[in-house]
Amino acid sequence: SLMITDECINCDVCEPECPNNAISQGEEIYQIDPNLCTQCVGHYDEPQCQQVCPVDCIPLDPAHPETQDELHAKYLRISGKA
Ligand code: SF4
Ligand code: SF4
Repeated sequence: SLMITDECINCDVCEPECPNNAISQGEEIYQIDPNLCTQCVGHYDEPQCQQVCPVDCIPLDPAHPETQDELHAKYLRISGKA
């Protein structure tokens, strides 16, 4: 999963780009649900949120390291294909 750091300026451009609806507005900044973020595996070659974020505040979440296989399995699970 990726994560959004406190450098987020609440610009709202990432939220509609997420194919998994993993991004939502939190209490102070936007947040990513690690149960839904596949790092865009299954949908796109690159994480779409990272592509659009104007302040580059969406790194890998060190608390949720995942292999490509695990990300693909998550994609299948949440898209109802597993
Ligand atoms: Fe959504 Fe993809 Fe960003 Fe994860 S990497 S939050 S799936 S847009
Ligand atoms: Fe925050 Fe970046 Fe998303 Fe804008 S694109 S809401 S700055 S995480």
